[in-house]
Amino acid sequence: MKTVKEPAREIAVRNEVDILVVGGGPAGIMAALAAAEDGLKVMLVESRGFVGGNLAIGLPILGFLGRKGNQIIKGLPQKFIDRLRAKGAASEHRPCALHVSLTIIDPEQAKSTALEMLEEAGVEILMYAFCADVVKEGDAVRGVIIESKAGREAILAKTVIDCTGDGDIAFRAGVECRKGDADGGMQPPTLMFSMKGVDVQALRDAIVEHPDIYDMDTMPAEQFRTGKFITVGLRRKIEEARKEGIDIPVARTILITGMADDEIWVNMSRVNGVDSTRPESYTRGELTARKQIYDIERYLRRFVPGFADAHMDKVAPFTGIRESRVTVGKYVLTAEDILSCRRFDDAVAVASYPVDIHHAVGGDCTLYWCEDCYDIPFRSLVPANVENLLVAGRCASATHEAMASTRVMSTCMAMGEAAGRAAKLAVRDNVAVSQTDTDKLRRELKETGAYLR
Ligand SMILES: Cc1cc2nc3c(=O)[nH]c(=O)nc-3n(C[C@H](O)[C@H](O)[C@H](O)COP(=O)(O)OP(=O)(O)OC[C@H]3O[C@@H](n4cnc5c(N)ncnc54)[C@H](O)[C@@H]3O)c2cc1C
Repeated sequence: MKTVKEPAREIAVRNEVDILVVGGGPAGIMAALAAAEDGLKVMLVESRGFVGGNLAIGLPILGFLGRKGNQIIKGLPQKFIDRLRAKGAASEHRPCALHVSLTIIDPEQAKSTALEMLEEAGVEILMYAFCADVVKEGDAVRGVIIESKAGREAILAKTVIDCTGDGDIAFRAGVECRKGDADGGMQPPTLMFSMKGVDVQALRDAIVEHPDIYDMDTMPAEQFRTGKFITVGLRRKIEEARKEGIDIPVARTILITGMADDEIWVNMSRVNGVDSTRPESYTRGELTARKQIYDIERYLRRFVPGFADAHMDKVAPFTGIRESRVTVGKYVLTAEDILSCRRFDDAVAVASYPVDIHHAVGGDCTLYWCEDCYDIPFRSLVPANVENLLVAGRCASATHEAMASTRVMSTCMAMGEAAGRAAKLAVRDNVAVSQTDTDKLRRELKETGAYLR
């Protein structure tokens, strides 16, 4: 490969903080809020011009409830939902036979409300800045290097929390990362879009009255009679559309009710083989997904009840990434842990969502559920070989199968909250964050409203 030599240079230190959170998605928002709760200097760096990450692409939040119907994600994530609900921008947590539970949110309000809460908490927010590297001393992270229109600058911190989804900071710091299944196959990305002017009642009626025609995976047709819903099914309709030459990349029709009565979000594009850590690959994903959504719109209008007079309204600001780099931490959560509802002494979050793998090849999906719920240990947020760094969200330490469960947004939020509180305790106690007293952390989590068993 042809190379050029980049000269070494002195760069300005923009800021020195107690805790730096990189990435303002579900995990990062909660990490920053938790870290800032009692007055430490906390900064959040986000490469886009809004916070929210995948909260902003039109998805429901899955997994607030457990398989037995009890609420297992509480604390700051629930406070966020309460704030949205007060604005009419979130639904109740609704049990679902396939997704365990779903909570519909308004993506624009999610962005604004997250910013509102971060500002109130005194978090210093820096957007339009991409974290490109780390500052390291020995095996300890001392800060990050950002790139922006202002050039290259450093931000120093006592503890850094990587909430980039892709594990960018951990990777740069030398943490071992892996991607995908045994063959490197990763879950494919999707460009979400919404349709307005949908006759949702007609869709409900079709599913409830003609389940033989409008088939649903796992979910009883009755689930669609009232309330917010996600369809996963209509496999036969997709086959019919394909026979008529409409190119649909998935086997199932995934439609999500929005906050407005005539609004449906569509989760049906997919581009196999995309690696979001390689820009040329992610670009191919964007180009392909953008073409797919018009075929999908055509399919919906022609084959799915309620869509004949609907129109495409919003397209998500980016193609959403289900899976990319996942870090190797002091503990790697496994599918066996999930399916056996395993408990850990250092549990910092509880989850229940199924292992939900959108196949890397083809257009289908496999799900398997645990009977109740499982713990996420603190050690899966702690990189195996690097100090002063925590990782929360979809890049926290888990196998390909286990991250197919932990990746949902409620769980990412709970991990973020735990990481933020751990970082705060470490700064207060003046210890390396990897040495956090997990009994104390668990006490603090419980006292501040998080759910632990
Ligand atoms: C198509 C799709 C459908 C899904 N369906 C659901 C669903 O229905 N319900 C559900 O609960 N979950 C769903 N998920 C999973 C869930 O959305 C994600 O796993 C979750 O959002 C991950 O949260 P996170 O905070 O770890 O990362 P992200 O949401 O990816 O947020 C990461 C943030 O970090 C920022 N960032 C990244 N790199 C850098 C950098 N180097 N410097 C600065 N900032 C950076 C990004 O801009 C982003 O804001 C879905 C995911 C996809 C893609």
